[in-house]
Amino acid sequence: MENVKTECDKCGTCCEKGGPALHIEDRELLASGIIGLGDLVTIRRGEMVVQLDSGRPETTEVELIKLQGRDQQWCCRFLDPATRTCTIYEQRPQVCRLMKCWDPEEARQLAGKKLLSRFDLIPENDPLLPLIRLHDQQCALPDMVEIAAQLGQEGQRNRILAELKGMVEKDLLLRTFAIDQHQLSLPLELFYFGRPLFQLLQPLGVRVMETADGITLQYSDE
Ligand code: SF4
Repeated sequence: MENVKTECDKCGTCCEKGGPALHIEDRELLASGIIGLGDLVTIRRGEMVVQLDSGRPETTEVELIKLQGRDQQWCCRFLDPATRTCTIYEQRPQVCRLMKCWDPEEARQLAGKKLLSRFDLIPENDPLLPLIRLHDQQCALPDMVEIAAQLGQEGQRNRILAELKGMVEKDLLLRTFAIDQHQLSLPLELFYFGRPLFQLLQPLGVRVMETADGITLQYSDE
């Protein structure tokens, strides 16, 4: 007879796939300091996100706040690699409490609802707020699906790479200014400004390199 799971045996497999998006109910975890702003990464509107139901990446139409990964992987930073257990298990976020790998329906019901965004967590008098709003406005993400399609067409490629170069430069300029002015660490940059555009372009085959004359973009479909 097939061995059907009925309770979480804390194998860590779900956690290895990535930390959860946070919801309004998780605010208390931030207020109490169990989770800090440096533990979070903002997924900005327009980024590609793997969907819980289909397992396929789709563009998100709303902003999400997720727990950051570890060692440049998505594996949740609160998963202890040695014991494969959650280091905040008793106070884990709502999705983690609802997630049952053998029956993900309850967690799926929550997808896209009552999500936390940066603007729920950053006070109005935070001196970074005007820069974050400016970055959001000036560096809105391009349509990644459209970009991928255009990069695939040789006749469009140089034009789109030139446009992307301008966007990557503007994104980096505003981040660098914020980092210098506010002494932001990398984890805090990922919360306040999300992931840099050059990083989001890598899965589309675009490599951004720094040279003495600035940055260059190269495309490869391999
Ligand atoms: S917070 Fe804990 S339960 Fe949730 S994904 Fe991270 S390690 Fe797993």
